Amino acid sequence: MEEKDCIFCKIANGEIPAATIYENSDLRVILDVAPANRGHALIIPKEHFKDIFDIDAVSAGKVFSLATEVARAMKDVLHCDGLNIVQNNGAVAGQTVFHLHLHLIPRFEGDSVHVGWEPGSSTPEELQTLAKEIRKRI
Ligand code: 5GP
Ligand code: ZN
Repeated sequence: MEEKDCIFCKIANGEIPAATIYENSDLRVILDVAPANRGHALIIPKEHFKDIFDIDAVSAGKVFSLATEVARAMKDVLHCDGLNIVQNNGAVAGQTVFHLHLHLIPRFEGDSVHVGWEPGSSTPEELQTLAKEIRKRI
């Protein structure tokens, strides 16, 4: 179902134009209008899912499955040295369009793209306790 006033619903369903790399009945792949690097692509489901907490596993699987094919095609064309896959959930995590999408960001030696975090610290006990807590919910 399309969400009113959602730009990615409109793009994914072809109501607003975008440079489309690929389209099938479930998904559209477009080039990002404000690319982090040349070739920065977005995989967008046609159905409105807000984020990772909202999407079902089968639909999410289709997104990542297509990413394998798009990534290979991008590598062939762009000759990138690497590629980041980024998927933001929630404003605090950098999400600005609240319709789930996967970023495929080609990386080139010496580029100035920033994706990442400073490594933190942990103890084995803390990790085991937390892993157990989360495991119980899966
Ligand atoms: P987010 O921050 O939500 O993970 O990523 C949203 C992305 O969508 C941004 O990289 C932004 O440049 C891109 N974007 C936003 N509006 C449009 C649009 O109208 N067309 C295209 N092609 N990309 C868009
Ligand atoms: Zn939407």
